[in-house]
Amino acid sequence: MERLPFSLPAFAPGWVWLVGAGPGDPGLLTLLAAHALAHADVVVYDALVDPRILELARPGASLHFAGKRGGKPSPKQPDISQRLVRNARAGLRVLRLKGGDPFVFGRGGEEALALVAAGVPFRVVPGVTAGIGGLGYAGIPVTHRDTNHAVTFITGHGVTGDIPDGMDWPALARGAPVLVLYMALKHIARIAEQLIAAGRPANDAVAIVSHATTERQATVETTLGALRAGAPAGIEPPAVVAIGPVVALRGGLDWLGALRGRVLDPDPLALERHRDIV
Ligand code: SAH
Repeated sequence: MERLPFSLPAFAPGWVWLVGAGPGDPGLLTLLAAHALAHADVVVYDALVDPRILELARPGASLHFAGKRGGKPSPKQPDISQRLVRNARAGLRVLRLKGGDPFVFGRGGEEALALVAAGVPFRVVPGVTAGIGGLGYAGIPVTHRDTNHAVTFITGHGVTGDIPDGMDWPALARGAPVLVLYMALKHIARIAEQLIAAGRPANDAVAIVSHATTERQATVETTLGALRAGAPAGIEPPAVVAIGPVVALRGGLDWLGALRGRVLDPDPLALERHRDIV
């Protein structure tokens, strides 16, 4: 880090850096994230931050867990924001470390607004989000010229813990050829039901990637129709769900599977094209 051919911004005392830690693999950290870890006095981290990443924290930095532990409810969002404010006002360099990207279904915006309200200076360091990078590790490009020119990111979990209110399922079902769902395992049967009722074909291809980019990464391929019976057995959170034609590309692009001996198909969409013709 010391020998970079460019300089990174100093982590000044009294500042909060809202940093994305990526989906798991420490190699996916940004240089700014690693720099922040090397200089922070306090690291406030979430459940989805990989423990290996915390090992990059400066020796002597204090590490605060702000996620769910042992089924207990997670700390309230205002409490986390107030902790950030308090530490920054005490003149500490505060690193708020979140899984993936802080501004993608991560409440980073809420925390940033609390910092603004308190007059605390902050910086945002984006991270690799699970719905893009996690799928990449499963050999699924979120966009591909032959299949989709748009993608929709959806959360399956609102403030109440249920599917968010006011979801316009017909619009979501038709909005883009590829849908990527976060936090969706718990309610996947109802979500699949809603999407199909709203016009999405039951034979739409689905890939569920859990623990993406970690040693425990596992992918299951299925169909939207099959999800009406719930998530396939053995798939555990965290997981992202990809729905749509890009899933077929995995047959050719599962580079991680190939490292473990999977034979890749050089033309993974051929079958899809055939299906279209018949
Ligand atoms: N800010 C995060 C998302 C937080 S919401 C990001 O940008 O990735 C938490 C959800 O993210 C999980 O329920 C899951 O859907 C997804 N997720 C996070 N890490 C993941 C991983 N390693 N593998 C699969 N999904 C993951």
